[in-house]
Amino acid sequence: MSTNEMITEAEQHLLHTYNRYPVVFDRAEGVRLYDADGKEYLDAFSGIGVMAFGYGHPKYTAALKDQVDRLTHISNYYYHTQLAETARKFTEASGMDRVFFTNSGGEAVEGALKTARKYAWLKDGRTDHEIIAMEHSFHGRTFGALSVTGKKAYRDPFEPLLAPVHFAEFNDIDSVRSYVNEKTCAIILEPVQGEGGVYPAKPEFLQELRALCDERDILLIFDEVQCGMGRTGYMFAWQGYGVKPDVLTSAKALGCGVPVGAFAMTQKVADASLAAGDHGSTLGGNPLVCAAMNAVFDIFEEDKILENVREMTPYMERKLDELKAKHACITDRRGRGFFQALECSGPVAEVIDRAREAGVILINAGANVLRIIPPLIFTKAEIDEMCAVLDRALEG
Ligand SMILES: *Cc1c(COP(=O)(O)O)cnc(C)c1O
Repeated sequence: MSTNEMITEAEQHLLHTYNRYPVVFDRAEGVRLYDADGKEYLDAFSGIGVMAFGYGHPKYTAALKDQVDRLTHISNYYYHTQLAETARKFTEASGMDRVFFTNSGGEAVEGALKTARKYAWLKDGRTDHEIIAMEHSFHGRTFGALSVTGKKAYRDPFEPLLAPVHFAEFNDIDSVRSYVNEKTCAIILEPVQGEGGVYPAKPEFLQELRALCDERDILLIFDEVQCGMGRTGYMFAWQGYGVKPDVLTSAKALGCGVPVGAFAMTQKVADASLAAGDHGSTLGGNPLVCAAMNAVFDIFEEDKILENVREMTPYMERKLDELKAKHACITDRRGRGFFQALECSGPVAEVIDRAREAGVILINAGANVLRIIPPLIFTKAEIDEMCAVLDRALEG
């Protein structure tokens, strides 16, 4: 089948919820993607922040192949030989004490919200608890996650959603305070907002949220589905800020290509929230995905992934700042680590198209924002290559 035939056939059968780019990918290696016609691309978006160490890492593929032959699934009614290691590695990396494995980021958020509701309910028995989320946040497409997502257009067709949810201004503690009352059970936010346009939290905002939550015994939930797993140069973004949440969510790069997620919490929250029978998942944390997660954590350490992000970030920021200085259409450069953005005065769709035609895959974060989220193994040469193509794509 030709590329056009594959696209036409896919569109005949798929539910049309995505406007896909007209490329059919076939294989990948390292930071290079290849389409069905054999054209090579540099990956500067990591499959939306998933492929932290690129494609085809020998240790990762070997771990998956081995586990496929051994045992792929057993259910959460039993332990399996990968499980203890994954749970330990996740809790050690995240600084949390207890973890639950899900199949996606959205599901991880669902679990975090259920944790907050149960924690508050055990405390005061109320059934009218409120949640505070942020404007421009993104937490996923399932009903609970959608309810705390700060984009009204995503929510409106599906009302009534989980309620009451208040949307505060990100980085504005007074806005958050104005919604706090005796019914507030949780404040949920991304330490670096992703889909909403790549907005890092101000350190003092997170510190003030922490103090507010401590004072009122409100659970502070950090959604680290996108900003976690090394993206900011720390295993989890909270570690770079020094502000620890009560509940944390993870997904995307946690599996580096297999469908996984997790929500985790401190012992204090675990002791007074979800108990046996309160939550479950058929596939969550099965042997196959745990083998993948175990390999992911090993590779982060052995390949010094965080070190590379920290070492390369100043260089990437400088190169992006040079682009900003050169192109009047770029109005802002912001981000943390390998979670960067160039904001433009107009839509970036055509820039992304031109970059793709020139062999670099990029992604946006809202209409006017180029999101720069390459694999965490990018070298100076690859940053140069990405920026050179971006430079030409911005020319028009
Ligand atoms: C991608 C994302 C989600 C949703 O994850 P899925 O795996 O697509 O359900 C949730 N929160 C944040 C911050 C995300 O970036």
